[in-house]
Amino acid sequence: ISKIGVLTSGGDSPGMNAAIRAVVRTANHYNIECYGIREGYNGLIHDDFTRMGPRSVKNIITEGGTILKSARSLEFKTTEGRKKAYENLVKRGIDALVCIGGDGTFRGAKIFSEEYGIRVIGIPGTIDNDIFGTDNTIGYDTALNTAMDAIDKIRDTATSHNRVFFVEVMGRDAGFIALNSGIATGALDILIPEKKDSIEELFATFEKAEKAGKSSSIVVVAEGEQLGSIYDLAKATKNGFPDYDIRVVVLGHIQRGGSPSCADRVLASQLGYGAVIGLMEGQTKVMAGMQSNKLVYTPIEEAIKKHNEIDKNLLTISEILAI
Ligand code: ADP
Repeated sequence: ISKIGVLTSGGDSPGMNAAIRAVVRTANHYNIECYGIREGYNGLIHDDFTRMGPRSVKNIITEGGTILKSARSLEFKTTEGRKKAYENLVKRGIDALVCIGGDGTFRGAKIFSEEYGIRVIGIPGTIDNDIFGTDNTIGYDTALNTAMDAIDKIRDTATSHNRVFFVEVMGRDAGFIALNSGIATGALDILIPEKKDSIEELFATFEKAEKAGKSSSIVVVAEGEQLGSIYDLAKATKNGFPDYDIRVVVLGHIQRGGSPSCADRVLASQLGYGAVIGLMEGQTKVMAGMQSNKLVYTPIEEAIKKHNEIDKNLLTISEILAI
């Protein structure tokens, strides 16, 4: 390959910039021309390309978000949109794409590659950690630490006022952020979509905590949790325990931003490098990931379809250590 394009698409995550930097610098090292494409697949369609060299990615390893900007492109979901995108690639002689994003981004890359034979490789960039084929996704570790810091602060208030806090964390349909931040902050209970929860069990946990002499509690709730909205949970708990002083906190988008953690910068560097190496070796329609400290390429199809399992042992540990 002689010319590649790199884009970030879907939800942004801390460390995407470090991945862009790694792609651009690895390409430069191997004398491959590199183009940045702005605003995800929208830039492909609207011909928003910029030639990138090693100096265009200076000082971005510390930055959250993505200098290339991200977007959700409805046009790319249409055959006409993808045709325009292909024509723009042909015009520049770009023969491969590095797509940094989540499963939606990979779905788009796969369809595009199947239609036009363009070589694509995915890099998992999402805080949710919901992509198969890599132990961690880029941004997950940073989001986890942001959630942990925030919950630590909430705990100070919880203990000072004997309050019960319901804290919602991100993760879409996955409970990785909730489970790990919950354990790290000593949450009384952790509600995640991968585990069948019930109000009765939650109430039983509150009763057990009371008996054990706990006077304040934090319940971490994953946004994809199935029991109901966090506000419904708080209301139900108030009905069951009228003397509880209950508060709800939705952490929201602070979890998506901020300077990437060391682990995310290293992971992004490994995967950005790995993506370019993969393309040079002739890989296509695969995602670069790290599993047990090894660079692996997983077919995009599998990365989209399969899911990383929650560590059931962590659930047991969280229950034992909470009281
Ligand atoms: P994420 O990559 O974070 O999961 P999205 O689900 O929003 O984010 O997907 C990002 C973009 O990928 C979409 O806005 C769209 O441009 C493209 N995409 C997603 N699914 C498809 C699809 N089935 N066909 C074509 N493009 C798609």
